[in-house]
Amino acid sequence: MEDCIFCKILKGEIPNHTVYEDKNVLAFLDIYPHAKGHTIVIPKVHAETYFDLNEELLTSFSNGVKRAMENVQNKLQPDGFNVGWNQNKVAGQVVPHLHMHIIPRYEGDGGGSIHSIIKNPGEKTVDEISKLFE
Ligand code: 5GP
Ligand code: ZN
Repeated sequence: MEDCIFCKILKGEIPNHTVYEDKNVLAFLDIYPHAKGHTIVIPKVHAETYFDLNEELLTSFSNGVKRAMENVQNKLQPDGFNVGWNQNKVAGQVVPHLHMHIIPRYEGDGGGSIHSIIKNPGEKTVDEISKLFE
């Protein structure tokens, strides 16, 4: 897509520090890292969110995330990871090209868990919400 910054990286118009690459995905170091080795994984097709990838592309994307994590593990030996993505503006998505954040975690790094993103469960009980899925 024309002015998508990650598509520009894919086309080689913007340089990147590659962590892992195959025919379907590219993983590269985040330029504003939140942790040592913070890595971004993107599908090579422009898709804005997870909903926009079909099953086949999701499988290759997921495989690419694992391979990128393995490379980070081998080079930096983190003690763990938080891995996830921001979907849509409300959740913090800035670049509108689906990307998985691989955030390596190190003992004593002072970071939180995925639970630290939000603590605002709303008024409805879990039982009430569960009825929507029956
Ligand atoms: P988002 O907030 O959309 O989930 O995350 C976008 C991420 O992409 C941010 O962590 C930001 O630092 C990273 N980023 C934005 N532009 C570039 C770029 O040109 N190169 C690299 N390597 N990372 C970028
Ligand atoms: Zn794009």
